[in-house]
Amino acid sequence: MTIINNSKTDPNKILPMTYLWSREYYLSGVANNWTPQEISMQKDVEQWKSPVVLNEHERLLIMRNLGFFSTAESLTANNIVLAVYRHVTNPECRQYLLRQAFEEAIHTDTFIFCCDTLGLDPDEVYNMYITVPSIKQKDDFVVELTKSIFDPTFVTLGRENIRRFLHDLIGYYVIMEGIFFYAGFAMMLALKRQNKMVGVGEQFEYIMRDESLHLAFGCDVINTIKAENPEIWTQEFQSEIVALIKKAVELEGAYAHDTCPKGLLGINAAQFVEYVEYIADRRLERIGLPKVYDKENPFPWMSQATDLSKEKNFFETRVTEYRVAGALKWDE
Ligand code: FE
Ligand code: MN
Repeated sequence: MTIINNSKTDPNKILPMTYLWSREYYLSGVANNWTPQEISMQKDVEQWKSPVVLNEHERLLIMRNLGFFSTAESLTANNIVLAVYRHVTNPECRQYLLRQAFEEAIHTDTFIFCCDTLGLDPDEVYNMYITVPSIKQKDDFVVELTKSIFDPTFVTLGRENIRRFLHDLIGYYVIMEGIFFYAGFAMMLALKRQNKMVGVGEQFEYIMRDESLHLAFGCDVINTIKAENPEIWTQEFQSEIVALIKKAVELEGAYAHDTCPKGLLGINAAQFVEYVEYIADRRLERIGLPKVYDKENPFPWMSQATDLSKEKNFFETRVTEYRVAGALKWDE
């Protein structure tokens, strides 16, 4: 039994399972269920309308992050449904992929909800992947990185194709979901810590909690393919992956500087870059590669941010009490 290229596996026959971790991710995803409409945006609307609460730099930071994520969520949904799902034939992994696809729909809905409640111009927000160079470069990089698996004639048979597939999975899970989302997460959560746009900040916290599971699942798929096909994990291929991750960190650093040129009350853009370097090392280690940057985490509070078990005061909002997944220790 293998995770890909197992034509003998009937994709409809989920029991008995081979990859129990995949089932765990599915259950954790379900336990984390949420929708954007459950989070109050009332204070955000007041702050957004007020001429004094937010300065122009904070407004730029908010708009750029909404602009990046609004289209990035659809891009990731398309990757899952149109490409990854086709090649990962194992039924329990496919069950998780369907769950992930649903969560991406929730995330897409989050940005529709933010645009609606704040009264933003959708043409401005949804065109930033074309009009803002630092966003366009990230999106183009991922599209280029994951194009093999979108080729309708692509199959995962044979050493070279398995390597291509692994390369694209790393581009999609480790780089897109694991690096390109994180300067934005840190910025929006830093803003929330300063009591600004707390509703949007909370939306980002829930998205980040989901993404940390997506990333953990993706890394387990990657590590399983490596373990089942050890001959593809050559020194040369490892160097290629490290180079891609370094390039991604550069692009994410450029995005951080572009989105937050003047810093955020006590935090400067260089610290966002340091944070991206810190998490890139965690990603490298997670897929069995040596770390590159050796940076301290400049935002230790980020590692708590995915843990929404908090004795949170939900009394002002309509959020119902969710079961809390204990499986969320991994990411930071
Ligand atoms: Fe997402
Ligand atoms: Mn995701």
